[in-house]
Amino acid sequence: MNVSSRHDKPFVATSQPEFDGVDLQALASRLGTPLYAYSANAIRQRIDGLKTALDGLDATICYAVKANSNRAILQLMGEAGLGADIVSAGELRRALDAGIPAARIVFSGVGKTEDEIDTALAAGIARFNVESLDELHAIERVAAVRQVMANAAVRINPDVDALTHAKISTGRAENKFGVSIAEARRWFAERSQLKHVRLDGLHVHIGSQILDLDPFRLALHRVAAFWRELAAAGHPLASIDVGGGLGVRYRAGQDQPIDATDYVQVIREALAGFDGRLLLEPGRYLVAEAGILLTRVLRIKEGTERRFLVLDAAMNDLLRPSLYDAWHDIVPVSPEPRPTATYDVVGPVCETGDTFARGRALPECAPGDLLAIQGAGAYGMSMASTYNSRPLAAEVLLDGGRYAVVRRRQTFEEMVAGEQPAQDWQAP
Ligand SMILES: *Cc1c(COP(=O)(O)O)cnc(C)c1O
Repeated sequence: MNVSSRHDKPFVATSQPEFDGVDLQALASRLGTPLYAYSANAIRQRIDGLKTALDGLDATICYAVKANSNRAILQLMGEAGLGADIVSAGELRRALDAGIPAARIVFSGVGKTEDEIDTALAAGIARFNVESLDELHAIERVAAVRQVMANAAVRINPDVDALTHAKISTGRAENKFGVSIAEARRWFAERSQLKHVRLDGLHVHIGSQILDLDPFRLALHRVAAFWRELAAAGHPLASIDVGGGLGVRYRAGQDQPIDATDYVQVIREALAGFDGRLLLEPGRYLVAEAGILLTRVLRIKEGTERRFLVLDAAMNDLLRPSLYDAWHDIVPVSPEPRPTATYDVVGPVCETGDTFARGRALPECAPGDLLAIQGAGAYGMSMASTYNSRPLAAEVLLDGGRYAVVRRRQTFEEMVAGEQPAQDWQAP
């Protein structure tokens, strides 16, 4: 081992030669990089853990599709008996195609169009999580045309600080999501005017990557007080949807995720005596740590002040570091011990924000080395773009030593499909 003089101590790297029984070097050689790899067993473990925690409750887990919407992942969720929380007609179609029954699908989001509402009613989804009075009226109108009854829950904005990154906080009064309890109270008081909407549920989702039980406890207690008030006023509820938001470990030795049992215990306490159905919408919790982004070192650039590790993955593949200043552990796919070096880890995209890590201590790298960016299973590929005309990465599902490609690497032709020269000019 060559320990160069600028490193004072040798360093034994944590490394990841295998994932779900699959040799990552062989996988990357075969399929190329950047490559998203997901462990089916890791996802199943999360599902089983949450199900065990929910034992004895009438609860449905509606996986938040936007976290990772690959159809193979959705199929896995469906096979495990999960439902889906969707935020668009596209996600509805993905969920249905993957075999998730409409009766286990809930529809959230502030901007549902009438077309999307109609499509969801036609499919027979379980419930709309309604975010505004205007939307409630839109659902009433569309359901009236269809002559059907839509089930609806009002999304409560409990004005709770989720103690998470501002861009993934959703439960403050200043956020665009949900309505105040005062407004929801009026909806219920006037609900007999709704002929095609059965308003009999509450929904709350206060944010994402939450690592502290207190915001959950506070939000659920506000929701529970409102549920009891509604019940006393003659408005019994069929369901309470507690949303998602459970955080995960992005940074080993630092992030302390909430235990599923402790989380469910908070729900049990807050909603004690509730005899309707409980809905949960975890996204990140089920998939984040089950995914890695495999990438190779293109080159090392010695700047005047900093040393840059240039990867073949970039912000278009994994946006979270640029968008949220998010930390992802980065480890070599190699068990051999190496001295440490400090790098700014960057991608090839022409943006200063295309930075995965700054001043990160890593095992010394050489061009061609394979690295795994960890915690990439959620809000990774589902946020990817082709910025800088970089085709979308491939995705692979691993399961006990085997792998299946679940998204081919995009070709140039696929990337530009749909674009055309301006020749067929028309007046609107
Ligand atoms: C994004 C979202 C979720 C999932 O959030 P996670 O933090 O990934 O668990 C659940 N419900 C709603 C309404 C959402 O918008």
